[in-house]
Amino acid sequence: MYPSRFRYEAPRSIAEAISLLSQGGDEAKVLAGGQSLVPLMKLRFASPELIVDINNIGGLDYHREDADGTIRIGALCRHADLERSDLLRSKQPVMAEAAPLIADPIVRNRGTLVGSLCHADPQGDWASVVTALGGYVVARGPGGRRSIPITDFVTGPFQNALAPDEIAVEAVIPAPKDALAGGYLKLERRVGDFATVGVAVATETSNGMVTRAGIALTGVGGATISATDAAQALVGQPLTAQTIAQAAELAAAAARPRTDHRGSAEYKRHMVRTFVVRILSRGDSSEEQTAGHPDTAASPGPAGPEDTAGRGNDTSGDSAERAA
Ligand SMILES: Cc1cc2nc3c(=O)[nH]c(=O)nc-3n(C[C@H](O)[C@H](O)[C@H](O)COP(=O)(O)OP(=O)(O)OC[C@H]3O[C@@H](n4cnc5c(N)ncnc54)[C@H](O)[C@@H]3O)c2cc1C
Repeated sequence: MYPSRFRYEAPRSIAEAISLLSQGGDEAKVLAGGQSLVPLMKLRFASPELIVDINNIGGLDYHREDADGTIRIGALCRHADLERSDLLRSKQPVMAEAAPLIADPIVRNRGTLVGSLCHADPQGDWASVVTALGGYVVARGPGGRRSIPITDFVTGPFQNALAPDEIAVEAVIPAPKDALAGGYLKLERRVGDFATVGVAVATETSNGMVTRAGIALTGVGGATISATDAAQALVGQPLTAQTIAQAAELAAAAARPRTDHRGSAEYKRHMVRTFVVRILSRGDSSEEQTAGHPDTAASPGPAGPEDTAGRGNDTSGDSAERAA
């Protein structure tokens, strides 16, 4: 299907883009990578009257580290830039592990991390990663700049906190104060698919004790879930089989999965538990890890209908179906 008729503008500055958005009001949409917006428009799940394409605005395609270790990702930094990033590989293990798991190479070449946060798909991977890392989004509008913690930015499925005349100009990951570890694990029916379940975990440790933790879940609720009780249970504790098992239980309890064509609710909850254990166990040096390891991955777990070999391909239509 073709999109509805729309006016197209390609401003060359953020100020110009904001002015256009102010004129367009609720009927205007920013276009970044177009990997979510264009399929929705083609299916007519979205019919904006004005498209403000920000791809001609210079200086938004960066990702860089400040002197204090803060990482900033500009609105036109593509998933592929992050996948190939030496900075992330050396400094940011959670993002480095997630980047190659976003969609497929074609989508990664155009899609952006900031666009993914704005799109606020409950199955979007970056929102979980940024949530676990305690990140925030910087928005610019007629009133200037403001920073919005990611937990306030994603307000629901496919909803964000931006005003119609605001642009998200960058996402920011605060510098860790202590040794950072963690990762992102994703269960998908086939490579390139949206998450059946995704789990992001970030920990900071000092002298063997966890000083900060973040755990966030993809695809197991109506929006990205910040498993705060699970993360908080780790703080002030060493990473042992017991503390890991407790965090995994609390994360599974925080999940709100639904049974669907991707698997049963019970199976998805089981996978949340398993992924939390797997990621945290990378930092567990206790003897229990080899003795009585809590990772349930070896057990068959509740049966799920997943067939990783050749089940239906996830398409933009699937994304649109979920957006509707
Ligand atoms: C086949 C396919 C598979 C995919 N698989 C995955 C997957 O496995 N995991 C995953 O996380 N994602 C997946 N995606 C989505 C992909 O990651 C998109 O790139 C991402 O969701 C949106 O980024 P974008 O830059 O393409 O945004 P766009 O499509 O341009 O925009 C998306 C929405 O965000 C708004 N927006 C974008 N940028 C800004 C901004 N700077 N300021 C204000 N509003 C903005 C737009 O107005 C629009 O409403 C998939 C997409 C496709 C087509």
